[in-house]
Amino acid sequence: MDHKYNIGSVHPLAISVSANLKDIRKIPVRLKISTGNYILQTHKASFSKNHYISPTCKLCSKADETVEHFILLCEKLEEARIPLLSKILDNGSLILAKVTTSFPIDLIQLIINPFCYVDINANRTGFEETSNILEPLCRQLLYNLHKKRYALLANIDKQGSRKSNF
Ligand SMILES: [Zn+2]
Repeated sequence: MDHKYNIGSVHPLAISVSANLKDIRKIPVRLKISTGNYILQTHKASFSKNHYISPTCKLCSKADETVEHFILLCEKLEEARIPLLSKILDNGSLILAKVTTSFPIDLIQLIINPFCYVDINANRTGFEETSNILEPLCRQLLYNLHKKRYALLANIDKQGSRKSNF
């Protein structure tokens, strides 16, 4: 089947996505992160006016839950992070060597949107590899982190309400 879409004002991150429904469901997490709308504890803390909300990560309680902490540092998310992150680093260094002229690379920026490092004059292969290999890995990583965080938070909430019932 020939899929033709009117790209119009679609966010550039969405353009590379295939027509696969499963993939489409994965977009929002990264779109939210890239637009600053993915709500972590540090955001909650800075929004809260009337009562105190701690910026500390609820998963590990070891540091403020910033975007950096969520994507790269939180040890509770390591299991969801390490396999994909090592793939991103392996593939990324090879691919980016072909398509980018802007060094150094900010790893978080790369994960949120690898296309920001693609030189507009880059060769076709490099661009295709970014679309077909690097970008799906980055998207998968963010989705996995989100899923794991969500599950852990749900668990923490459940324990909290169980305690308060006694
Ligand atoms: Zn943490």
